[in-house]
Amino acid sequence: MRHMAICKQTVNDTFGARARGKSAGSSESAARFRARVELLATRALPAPSRIAPPPASNEAVRKSMQGNKRSDTKPELLVRARLREAGLAGYRLQWKVPGRPDVAWPGKKVALFINGCFWHRCPHCKPRLPKSNVEYWVVKFERNVERDERSQAALEALGWKVHVVWECQLKKKAIDATMAELLPLLAEELGKELSPL
Ligand SMILES: [Zn+2]
Repeated sequence: MRHMAICKQTVNDTFGARARGKSAGSSESAARFRARVELLATRALPAPSRIAPPPASNEAVRKSMQGNKRSDTKPELLVRARLREAGLAGYRLQWKVPGRPDVAWPGKKVALFINGCFWHRCPHCKPRLPKSNVEYWVVKFERNVERDERSQAALEALGWKVHVVWECQLKKKAIDATMAELLPLLAEELGKELSPL
């Protein structure tokens, strides 16, 4: 799988300077996350089913806590607009394959996940853990990260090419560089020419 190697830190430091190359991606982030979990969990965590979830502070949190995948989020709309501009339309949303990729070209087996940094634990901007109910969130996030890894591995085993773009890579100062890197890769895999801008 390919991960965009642009992080918020880099973007903030250099305003759009691009860090190229692949990273070990989610397995690396999971290892880092587990290390953080170990630091936090000085005592054994209770079984996940026994942890009472904290009350949802708003509708978006409530939906996420119920495991409903939200669609048409702002980052997704941004990416889809860029895809259409570039002539890479013809995608399907939340196609029924492992992980329900946000954007998929089933005929070409190309999947694109547009991940929210908080819920999916972005390895680039490393969002902070909530201050309260830490044990609940640690378990919740670890499950999310593991589920993402399993979905992506399953897709790849089925012959899919998997791309992940993070919310922080779609901020105003970062999106041009992010798409400049992503679009040619997608075009190549889809066997399409990019539309001139
Ligand atoms: Zn991020």
